[in-house]
Amino acid sequence: MKRVSIFGATGSIGQNTIDLIKRAPSEYQVVALTGGGNVRQLAADARALNAEVAVIADPARLPDLRAALEGTTVECAAGATALQEAASRPADWVMSAIIGAAGLRPGLAALAQGATLALANKETLVAAGPLVMSEAARHEATILPVDSEHSAIFQALAGEAPASVERVILTASGGAFRDWPLAKLETATPEEAATHPNWDMGQRITIDSASMFNKALEVIEAREFFGFEPEQIEVLIHPESMVHALVGHVDGGLMAHLGAPDMRHAIGYALHWPARAPLPVARLDLAALGKLTFSDPDPARYPALDLAQRVMRRGGLSGAIFNAAKERALDHFIARRIGFTDMARIVSAVLDRTDATAGVVDAEFTLDNVLNADHLARIRTDEIIASRG
Ligand code: NDP
Repeated sequence: MKRVSIFGATGSIGQNTIDLIKRAPSEYQVVALTGGGNVRQLAADARALNAEVAVIADPARLPDLRAALEGTTVECAAGATALQEAASRPADWVMSAIIGAAGLRPGLAALAQGATLALANKETLVAAGPLVMSEAARHEATILPVDSEHSAIFQALAGEAPASVERVILTASGGAFRDWPLAKLETATPEEAATHPNWDMGQRITIDSASMFNKALEVIEAREFFGFEPEQIEVLIHPESMVHALVGHVDGGLMAHLGAPDMRHAIGYALHWPARAPLPVARLDLAALGKLTFSDPDPARYPALDLAQRVMRRGGLSGAIFNAAKERALDHFIARRIGFTDMARIVSAVLDRTDATAGVVDAEFTLDNVLNADHLARIRTDEIIASRG
């Protein structure tokens, strides 16, 4: 039996992972399931899967979790330390699907115990790529990408010499505002930004798809995970979301990965890797689709993509700063304190300010320094927003 833990079990990726595990319960022993605040879902799944431990990030919800799991053998715990402890419990396969930088520490703890880390939490690599990759190597742990684009690249690279890769192309649906007049973006609401044309995802990543901050994070994630140079990574708008990524080789050949927009493919691929197993995802009917379309992203509509290039060129801890500023700007947008287009302007201003503060971006790549840079970027974001009045 494969011992599995799911961090962020109550979210969109977590629930898709649980869907796959529930289809073959005899193959899995569930070690840890975690949630942020959704006790009802966490308790229901911990009961159904007979988890060893259920952890809720919000300590105030621990009494509710205990009550919901009364009469079972499931241990209950809460808070950041409990998340760390749960990630240290021996498991063969750990899904990292907490949203945001909060996923970093549990991911590192899972690597330290040598688990295979199925990485949906792209923020882990954006904020701390060199640290995470070196920890994986040190503990002989495997990281498998779960972002659909990175899973697609990983699959397209199988059996290929890394040196033969000339470029990679990440596709993007273009999000909710792909066809909106540019001027209207200023007034876009969180509700409008949180509707995705193709993928069914959590609220935050859906808004990040509309702004393409999500794609910006993925570009940096591709650099950190695969080691591509910034200029090798391209983005194409592909409204149908059927081609997830393409790998271009030195001989001009392009290897594309196609599939229905269903995260259970990338999750299932990571769950069964290195084997392939049947998955409950729709099969593409290319004749019915008729055609697939592509176009270049407009830099004026998606300024986050230029910010990603800037972050990659700057290097150091600028990924941690970029991610934290983006997370905080998104909080303010969701709270209606800033507009949709303000997010990129504010993140850019935070990068300017931290660049000008000696020792932040170029500090040594340790966990403490990553967390300090993250903290500072959140403070700077709040300051910039407050100074706007
Ligand atoms: P969701 O918002 O749907 O779920 C996030 C999960 O994290 C929930 O379980 C939530 O708990 C938990 N959580 C939130 N805050 C904290 C915290 N501070 N500490 C601990 N747990 C917390 O997100 P998604 O599933 O959409 O995304 C998860 C990750 O996967 C992200 O990094 C995203 O970028 C990535 N990803 C997602 C894709 C998708 O299709 N959704 C595709 C590719 C990558 P609760 O709900 O109980 O509050």
